[in-house]
Amino acid sequence: MIGKFHTMVKEIKDYALKENVPIMLDDGIEFLTTFILKHQITKVLEIGTAIGYSSIIMALSSPNLKIVTIERDEARYLEALKNVKKFDLENRITLIFGDALNVNLDDKFDLIFLDGAKGKNIDFLEHFEGNLEKEGFFITDNINFHGYVKKDEREIKSRNLRGLVKKIKKYIEYLKNSNVYSTKFYEIGDGIAVTNKKEVG
Ligand code: SAH
Ligand code: MG
Repeated sequence: MIGKFHTMVKEIKDYALKENVPIMLDDGIEFLTTFILKHQITKVLEIGTAIGYSSIIMALSSPNLKIVTIERDEARYLEALKNVKKFDLENRITLIFGDALNVNLDDKFDLIFLDGAKGKNIDFLEHFEGNLEKEGFFITDNINFHGYVKKDEREIKSRNLRGLVKKIKKYIEYLKNSNVYSTKFYEIGDGIAVTNKKEVG
């Protein structure tokens, strides 16, 4: 499926590199698409479209998959719109322009992919947990944040970066200590967490 679009996909990747758009790493996206097929996911909500790369790859990998994806940066949203049209995927990828925390959806999804602001994952998870199917999953990208999460905090010179790393650690603890969710952490790409509801009873 992707083979045929190889050149067009490469163009998006080159654009991302040139414009510093942090799209998913190859092994991360490979994990995501394999997961979607394995768990027969049919509806995905993505927080953080950027320029549409991950949405497009997910859609190309699973012919029946529908995706709703949210982006707050207008320039990126517009670029994503252009890219989705190029691939003729407007009927399967719905782009929403806005801050995800202000977007309220009624639909239920069997996968909610958190790839927006890295310090906001608790907020994203709590905002959208009502949109998760009973047997659904949250997948969170950038759990290692370029290796910084495992570094000694004193080694991180920038105050902003230190703050962000603290928030990611807090999110990891939140997942680990949850009574509602159980989470597996994978050392793939930039670190990926897979979260689902614990079985009750
Ligand atoms: N999923 C993309 C990469 C996303 S990069 C891919 O792999 O191709 C993260 C994106 O999330 C950025 O473009 C940023 O603007 C967006 N973002 C961050 N916080 C957000 C929020 N609260 N609501 C919507 N988009 C957000
Ligand atoms: Mg990411």
